[in-house]
Parts: sequence; structure tokens; C-alpha cells
Amino acid sequence: MDLLPIATSFVFAAALLGLAAEISAAAAGRSPRLARVLLGLAVWLAACGLWWPVHVMPAAGTAAALDGARAILAWLPALLLAALGAATTRLAEGGRGVGAAAAALATLVAAYALAMFTAPGVFRLSQLQGLVGAGVTMIALTVAVAVLHLRHADVRVVRAARLSAALVAAAVLSLAAAASAGAAAGLRMPVWTEMGAVLALVGIAGVLLFVLQDTATVAEVDAIARPVRAAAVDGLTGLPTRLYFEARLAAAAKKCEAKRSRMAVLFVDLDGFKPVNDTYGHSCGDRVLEQVGARLKAISRGADVAARVGGDEFLLLMTGITGQDAVAQVATRMIEALSHPYKVEDREVDISCSIGIALYPDGCSQRKLIARADVAMYAAKRAGGSRHCFYAPAMDNDAQQNFDMVRDLRQAMANNELELFYQPKIDAKSGKVTAAEALLRWQHPTRGMVMPAEFIPLAERSGLIGPLGNWVIEAACKQGRAWRDKGLRMRVAINLSAYQMRQDDIAERIAEALRRHRIHPSLLTCEITESAAMEDTRATQATMRRLGELGAHLSIDDFGTGYSSLSYLRQLPAEELKIDRSFVMDIEHSADARAVVDAVVKLAHALGLKVVAEGVENTRQQQILVDLGCDELQGFLFAKPMTARALLIWALGDKGSSEEFRHSLFGETRQGSRQSARSVAGA
Ligand code: C2E
Ligand code: CA
Ligand code: CA
Repeated sequence: MDLLPIATSFVFAAALLGLAAEISAAAAGRSPRLARVLLGLAVWLAACGLWWPVHVMPAAGTAAALDGARAILAWLPALLLAALGAATTRLAEGGRGVGAAAAALATLVAAYALAMFTAPGVFRLSQLQGLVGAGVTMIALTVAVAVLHLRHADVRVVRAARLSAALVAAAVLSLAAAASAGAAAGLRMPVWTEMGAVLALVGIAGVLLFVLQDTATVAEVDAIARPVRAAAVDGLTGLPTRLYFEARLAAAAKKCEAKRSRMAVLFVDLDGFKPVNDTYGHSCGDRVLEQVGARLKAISRGADVAARVGGDEFLLLMTGITGQDAVAQVATRMIEALSHPYKVEDREVDISCSIGIALYPDGCSQRKLIARADVAMYAAKRAGGSRHCFYAPAMDNDAQQNFDMVRDLRQAMANNELELFYQPKIDAKSGKVTAAEALLRWQHPTRGMVMPAEFIPLAERSGLIGPLGNWVIEAACKQGRAWRDKGLRMRVAINLSAYQMRQDDIAERIAEALRRHRIHPSLLTCEITESAAMEDTRATQATMRRLGELGAHLSIDDFGTGYSSLSYLRQLPAEELKIDRSFVMDIEHSADARAVVDAVVKLAHALGLKVVAEGVENTRQQQILVDLGCDELQGFLFAKPMTARALLIWALGDKGSSEEFRHSLFGETRQGSRQSARSVAGA
């Protein structure tokens, strides 16, 4: 027997089959359209590989030798075999058991047809030999073809399996064809060729159907894909949108499974962007976002996807990661890069970002990845922002807890669980009480006392701050009346949230409550945080104007943390600035903090505003603040927030040593703090 044609046919067949297997593996993780083209190419190459031995060994007695044109027919069952092998592995991957079994059975039948064509002689050897030979050929082909398309599990194992499958299939075919060529010489043309021709025709029809269906879906996909593509890029930053991101995420997840690798989704949310937008306007905000987009693009490696998915929210996909550390490094670098000041026109804007990270697979379906990263981002924000957090299952509990809290808060008003505590403001020079600030407390049935820092942000996010704020207005006015009825004219301060400032009926509501409880508007102070006061919205401005017209006093709370401009501040109908606690906290040790307070006091006095320092905890701070010219002080040094009753007892009893204090409680509070501010400033 001449070994050369056997050897060449083996090498060619193995090469073609091996190539087909690799291309089929490479199809995974590509766009669906490209994947289909590649898989088709792989099937075609595999069919060529299976057909090759017959082609190069046209020995007497084989189908090829009997009729040269029929040799081409041998290619058709080969093609069918390869296609069915691909279908089997695909269906098995998808976990469709019945489909996979049916495809496997069909593969076996196709292998039978191919064996008939390529090695008819084998079928006509002595009965036992032929049976064993044909059976081995069929089974070897079936298994080899199925393995050729395998894409799952460990990469190295699968690669080795594919390689040996290619070698086995090529060897079996070459040997069978060679054996057939010799053994079957001189034999009659087998009846099986006709049956083979029928099978081949079925194969052609099947392939045609497959191709037709395929082109239909490709056309459909394209029709859907076109408008999608237009919406895939964000106009402002040029980054992809969520739509595109999700598509890439799904493809990357598949690739991850095939390669057994890991990937990470990073949810990036800017810290402090809203005040920038509100203060400097949206066009400034847009310029900042553009720069954020450019920095994100620069920092994400070529293989990663960065997308803008909301106002100041971005998503980043990192594939092929080795571990948490690598992701943490990227997150740290990103926070650093996004925290550098942004130059917009002649301004410098300082913002930062919080990043939540979710890893894949890590027991998480690809669909939940973004939600997990989002939850982790909120955890990073809660921890103070400007940092990253990896997702942990406990965070879902936090989200659940928040949900429960909102539900309970809805009930809290009806169940009488809310209470206002009051913290006095003290005149810096005389020590007299000038006002009491109402601070909300929630007596939760199981959690005990809940502080506003825990539930006010939740109430703001859920819209509950509306009814909650209304309750505060009502309760504070009622308390003011109760004090009044005891002969005490006590100014009351309430805190208004940004949400409330945007309600267009808020001023009317306050006026209505004041009227109902017969309280003069000048006895009410509304504290509005600096960032809320600087909101550029017309509704907020209108509310402030109307509150001023009403005769209520306005106080700018947490001053120094926002971005107020001097000219804007001058237009506000405010009487008072409350210097943020953070400056008071640092004032003993930080020259910077002292300089800020000094400047704020001078500025405020120049504008005729009174200055209140909050969070005064010791006499050293008190001394410095008095020296710097603060008009009023508030803090634990004087009194902690307490119930209305406790405030009265504190004022009349233990604190009774201060004669002046009692006087101020029962005396008239000063008319118009602007006046007093001027007198202090002038003093
Ligand atoms: P805020 O208006 O700046 O209130 C001052 C906060 O500082 C209060 O916390 C007060 O208890 C605390 N504080 C006062 N003196 C000192 C001190 O010497 N040292 C320290 N460490 N802290 C001091 P609280 O009561 O937990 O309220 C927190 C924030 O919740 C308030 O900050 C305010 O923004 C908000 N809030 C409270 N009640 C209401 C309300 O009825 N409506 C709205 N919208 N917000 C409220
Ligand atoms: Ca306040
Ligand atoms: Ca404050």
C-alpha cells in the first residue's frame, strides 16, 4: 500500500479540521452577525477536511473511482456532518437537552452517510470486519465533529480536545479511505450510493433552509440595529450610551464563560456635580461633563468600554481582569484623575467621584451586574464619597433596609412617631437666647431614635420630604404658639430642604400655618442650605422671594460648603449666614479655617447679614468666634437639641443661673436681625 497519499490526506484533513475548530471558537463573543459568518466558514472548512481523504484517494471500488463527479457528493454528507456537529454542541451549550439529543442522533446518521461515500469498501469487507470498521468510523467521526465545535470549559483542555479530535477524524478517514480503496477493488457499485445521494439532497435542502433563515434574521437584526446605532453615542461626551454598554456587556459575559476569565463593571457617579450645575448653570456643567468623559476615555484601556448612562453617571467595563487588586488600582487612579480641578472659562471647578464595583461571574448573573455596581456606588457615597467600594451581599440588605425605612416613615406621621427637638441659638455678646432651631427626631418603634441624617436624605429621594416638611411647619408653628401662650416670644427656626424650596405652594403653606396659629411671620426663620439656596431654578428663587415678602427671616445654612458668588448672595432676601460646622471644628488648629471665618464675617457684615456659628463645642472655639465677630453661637457647649419641655426646664431651672437667659426667653426678641447685625458690625 502506498503510504504517501494516506499521509498527505491525513495532514490536509487534520489541518482543515483544526483550522475550522479554531475559527468556530473565535466566533464566540463576536457580534451575532459576525459570529454566524464565522461559524458558517468553520462548518465549510470542516466539511472540506472530512471530504479530503476521499478526494485524494480515488481508488477503484470507492464511490469516487466509480464516478468522478460523484466524489463531489461525498462533500455533502461531510458538510451536513460538520453543520450538525456544530448544532449539537451549540444546543448542548444552551442546555436544550432534547434538541441536543436529536442533533446528536442526526449527526450519527450523517456520519453513516459520509462513511458510506468515503469508504464503501469497508462496508463490504467480511461481515464482522465491515461492521466493526463502519461502526468505528461512524462513531469516531461523530465524536470528533462534535468536539471540533466545542467552546465551553477550560481553554487549555478544550484546545487539546479539539486538536486530538481533528487528528482522530483525519486519521480515521484517511485509513478508512485507504483500506477501502484496496479492499473494495473490483467490487460492484454499492446500492448505498443512491441512498447517499438522497441524503446529500436532504443535506443541501437543510443547508439552504439554514442559510435562508439565517439571512432573514440577519436582515431583521440589521433593521433593529440601525436606529439603535444612532442612539449608541452620547452627544455631549462622545461616549457610548447605556444601550451600547449593555450589548457589549452581554457579549463580554459570553466570552468570559468561554475563557473562564473574569470582568468588572464600575459605576462612577460624580460627587458635588449638582451644586456646580445649579450655581454656574448647565452650560458650565456640560463643559465639566465633557472633560470628565475625556478623562475617562484616557484612563480606560483600549479593551475597556466607558459609557455615560445618566446626568453625571458613567459605567466602565473591564475585561480579562486578574483580581480585585487590579480593579481597585484602576478605581483609585480614576478617582484621582477625576478629582483634578476642571477649568471652565476662567473658573476652576472641584469635584470628585464615587465608584461602585461588581465582579463577574462571582455568583452573579450578567443582568444583575450594573445593579450591583450601583448599590456599591451608593455604599461609597454613604461612606463619604471620593472612594470606591466593592459590592458585598450585605449592601442588598442596606437597600432593603432603606426600602423598609421609607415604608415605616410613611407610617411615622400617622403613628405620632415624629417629634421636634429644639436647640437654642445664643447671642455671642450677651449670652441671651435669640431663637430655637427645630430639629426633627423619629422615635422608631423597633430602631429607637433615628436621626435626620439617616432619614432626611431618604425622604428627599422618595418624595416623602413633602408631607414630612409640612408636618414640621405645622408642629413648629404649634410650638411657637404654645410658648407664646406662656408669655414667651420665642423665635423658631425650621430647616427647609431643596425639594421643599421647589414646591410652588410652600410659602403659602407656611403663611397659612402662621395665620392659623396666630404667629407673627418675623418670629419664624427658615434655614436653607447654601447649596439649596444657590439652586438656579426659578421655583427656588420665587419661594425665597415670597418668604421674604411674607416677613419670615431667611438663613443660609451650612455656609462655606457651596459655591455662592458674592453678587448672587447680595440679591437674596436673607438675614443670616450660618457658618458650617466643619470650619468651627477646625478653627482652633487651622489658620485656614480661621481665615475663612474671618472673611465670611466681614463679607456678611458688609452685606448687612448676621453671622451664626454652629457646632460650638468648647470655650476656646467660642472665644475665637467671638473675637472674629460672630453674632450668634449655637452648639453643644450651650445646649444640645432637646424636647420643647426640656428646653423650658433647662431655661428656667438648671440654666436659671443666667438671669439674662431667662430675660431673653420671656422678653421680646429683637425686631429684625438685619438691624442688630448692623449695630454689631458698627460696634
Ligand atoms: P443642620 O441644620 O446643620 O443642624 C445642625 C446639626 O448639628 C444638628 O444635627 C445638631 O444636632 C448638630 N449639632 C448642633 N450642635 C452641635 C455640636 O456642638 N456638635 C456637633 N457635633 N453637632 C452639633 P441633627 O439634628 O442630627 O440634624 C442634622 C441635619 O438634618 C440638620 O443639619 C438639617 O440639615 C437636617 N434636618 C433636621 N431637621 C430637619 C427638618 O425638619 N427638615 C429638614 N429639611 N432637614 C432637617
Ligand atoms: Ca439648620
Ligand atoms: Ca448647619
